[in-house]
Amino acid sequence: MFPSNLWREIPQRYRLEATYCPKCLITYFPPRELCTSCGSKELEKKKLPTKGKLVTYTVIRTPPKGFEFYAPYIVGLVKLEDGTHITAQITDAEPDGLSLGMDVEAVIRKIREDGRDGLIFYGYKFRPVLNNNGASKMKC
Ligand SMILES: [Zn+2]
Repeated sequence: MFPSNLWREIPQRYRLEATYCPKCLITYFPPRELCTSCGSKELEKKKLPTKGKLVTYTVIRTPPKGFEFYAPYIVGLVKLEDGTHITAQITDAEPDGLSLGMDVEAVIRKIREDGRDGLIFYGYKFRPVLNNNGASKMKC
């Protein structure tokens, strides 16, 4: 179980932080410095909501180098509460347990481990929102 302040300590690239063009009302994730619509550099930082709905998903059986150990795993397209679409790994679920349009929420999880250096990389993943008493929320 992570301390609750982990979201603030995790490097920016792993947080759900986007940029936003106030003129075009476009959200960029991953964040961009420049609006590709109007060319403005006056983009604002925006924290994305951590909840959304599962739009579609796919099971990766032939992963990129370094992720072989984790295959098969699920990658989903999530539509966040503010309408932003992001792609992320889906965790705590089997493909059979997923359904399109189901509620999902972001969690910080181990992305991969480098056996030689002992490095562990963390990042966000999404998991189905549980409708029971939340007992498995303590699982890490
Ligand atoms: Zn713009």
